Amino acid sequence: MAICTGCSLLCEDIVAALENGAFSHVKNLCRKGHSHFQAAFTERTVPMIDGEKVDLDRAIAKAAEILKSAKSPLLYGWSNSTLEAQAAGIRLAEKLGATIDDTSSFCQGILTERILSGKIPTCTLDDVRNYADTTIFWGSDPSSSHPRHLSRFSYYPRGEKRQKSYEEERTCIAVDVRKSATAKLCSNYYFRVAPGGDAQFMEAILAVLEGKIPKVGDKKKMIELSSVLKKTEWGAIFPGLGMIYSLQDNMELFERLLAKLNEITTFKVIPMVGHYNMRGFNELMLEKTGFINRVSFKDGAVAHGPEHSALAAAKTCDTALVIGSDPLSALPFGTARALARQPLIAIDPRRSLTTDAAKVVIPSAISGLEAGGTAVRMDGVTIKFEPIIGTLLLSDEQIITRIMEAI
Ligand code: SF4
Repeated sequence: MAICTGCSLLCEDIVAALENGAFSHVKNLCRKGHSHFQAAFTERTVPMIDGEKVDLDRAIAKAAEILKSAKSPLLYGWSNSTLEAQAAGIRLAEKLGATIDDTSSFCQGILTERILSGKIPTCTLDDVRNYADTTIFWGSDPSSSHPRHLSRFSYYPRGEKRQKSYEEERTCIAVDVRKSATAKLCSNYYFRVAPGGDAQFMEAILAVLEGKIPKVGDKKKMIELSSVLKKTEWGAIFPGLGMIYSLQDNMELFERLLAKLNEITTFKVIPMVGHYNMRGFNELMLEKTGFINRVSFKDGAVAHGPEHSALAAAKTCDTALVIGSDPLSALPFGTARALARQPLIAIDPRRSLTTDAAKVVIPSAISGLEAGGTAVRMDGVTIKFEPIIGTLLLSDEQIITRIMEAI
């Protein structure tokens, strides 16, 4: 059995057989996982300096030389790396006095921090499968982003206390700005919110739960929603980026809603983390520094704040090491342009805009397929995996260790 690192569900039941350098048979991979695995055979990176192919040792030596001479390096990415590579990355950041940050800094970090500090009640996905009779997909669309979420955990499977499952025992509710694939499944309980309107919708739910008339939404539907929530025995909410971006700094309102729901019944939260080991990075950083991301180790001290986020540091750093991420495609144009002006070191199994623009490219093995390691699933469960394909490529951890040794 293989583990899929295509998303933070880390599906553990993947069967894959290879013949002549291609998959001859795969089982249990969703379409997203299939393209993730298939990419092993296309667009792979090779060691490069300034666009010229070099051997791996030279690429690693050049990366070490650039980092050693940098005054304010940024180490960014990490959410698509194993725990072992992330731990080595944090040690490298300490050694260099660098800023280190990951993608959670501008996506699920704000919620994950509350989960890890115990402000927001959480559970495992196995609990959801066994006990949940109501699941709420709020600003998230697992049918597209985590295609096996509904079938393995949140809607279709039979669980210990949910033997009748979706046919009779599970209700799914979708809150979204558009009728997504998941919202179509939850069509009886799809609630459209205006872009940026999630806080208003939360206030409306709080109002109906307290027996007041809601100020927004279809009043009849809101009362129906309140009745479903009140009848719930065990509920789970899966917030996606739609909710996070809409609420912005108003997460206290979400905490208030959860407190109210938990006065009535049980409601837990699992953030819909995208990258396969974002949560692992956040847990490691919290343990090491007291903060989940946005940390600078400059002058041997730990400093944290928005000025140490990748978005800010991209404009002030004098070099960046990017691992398993493509910030030049994903970050806002101004940030990407600032980053592209610096000498970039890209560690990645596959070609991307960032590897194409990098001064140094170091190819790596694909975790789960070509390299083993450990990762933390979106719900905090640790998953270990072994490679299923032999390769001469180094793992992320080995590359970071080699760079550190060379420094
Ligand atoms: S749901 Fe995610 S982890 Fe599971 S097979 Fe699909 S991409 Fe891979």
